Amino acid sequence: MRAILIEKDGVALKDIPESALPEGDVTVAIEYSTLNYKDGLALTGAAPVVRKFPMIPGVDFAGTVTASAHGDFKPGDKVILNSWGVGELHWGGLAQQARVKGDWLIPLPSAFTTRQAMAIGTAGYTAMLCILVLEAHGVSPQNGEVAVSGASGGVGSVAIAVLAKLGYTVAAITGKPQEEAYLKGLGASVILDRHELPAVPKPLEKERWAGAVDTVGGVVLSALCAQMRYHGVIAACGLAGGAAFAGNVMPFILRGVMLAGVESVYVPKEQRIVAWNRLARDLELRHVESMMHEIGLEDALKLAPDLIAGKRHGRIVVNVNR
Ligand code: NDP
Repeated sequence: MRAILIEKDGVALKDIPESALPEGDVTVAIEYSTLNYKDGLALTGAAPVVRKFPMIPGVDFAGTVTASAHGDFKPGDKVILNSWGVGELHWGGLAQQARVKGDWLIPLPSAFTTRQAMAIGTAGYTAMLCILVLEAHGVSPQNGEVAVSGASGGVGSVAIAVLAKLGYTVAAITGKPQEEAYLKGLGASVILDRHELPAVPKPLEKERWAGAVDTVGGVVLSALCAQMRYHGVIAACGLAGGAAFAGNVMPFILRGVMLAGVESVYVPKEQRIVAWNRLARDLELRHVESMMHEIGLEDALKLAPDLIAGKRHGRIVVNVNR
């Protein structure tokens, strides 16, 4: 099988014998994988995402089961995998085959092809986890405007499309105001250049956001905290702009603002199925098509630096058989 292999001294596209696949009770013929931000970090070595060598990167994949000793899956079943340490500790999706624990897999929702599922990918599934958190804490379209940062990226694009479909007024916070047509096409009402946010916000800025999906962290998260309305909720999932952020407790103790962390890696299977079913209901396929760009395995190596530099928009789908 062809696969991208990361070794301590470099990364390359290689032919690997099937016998080298790791332990697991389900083998999958992968059809599509993707390039998420974390995959970009793994491929470029920009952060220590890979914790075991040699490693096949790729935190997600969709494909067809070819062998199974797991009660829930049989050959021919279409499946999706998101995270569980795949691509970091266990060989991942940037390959033509994978062998994993069946407990990590979920059935492909009937609304999606394997290609569409990977156009959504871990980024889109995480966007939906963020929206579920906003809903669970009482944010609704009547409460006011919501913000999405890192708007043109994978998580941001899906979050905008779903929130707009649910009736929210969505402000897209972006470093690429030139992507206005793309962002408005997804459903954003307002485009806000992130450089216009206060670089050093006051403890409390003018109230604006009822909710926020933050994929950026850093100064953007600092500004969002200060601009939240009474009882506003931020779902924070990313660090594209930096892991550290300067903060002040005033929004939390005077406005009851909630800062909720979102992680996607070890979410229980039942919640994953809820998130994917909500994506099937609330994400229009026309948006899935508009945000995806398909590449082959070899291109993944070339595009990873651009992804980490924030030069891409939307989702990069990897056709592993191309
Ligand atoms: P993408 O690379 O697709 O998008 C990231 C976006 O962030 C870019 O398109 C850009 O959008 C913005 N950005 C990039 N660099 C900077 C910068 N230096 N400063 C501010 N903004 C920047 O990534 P994903 O959407 O896949 O992931 C987004 C974030 O969410 C990542 O940090 C990722 O690690 C995290 N994540 C976390 C998960 C979890 O489980 N918690 C799961 C999935 C993702 P624009 O130009 O429009 O501002």
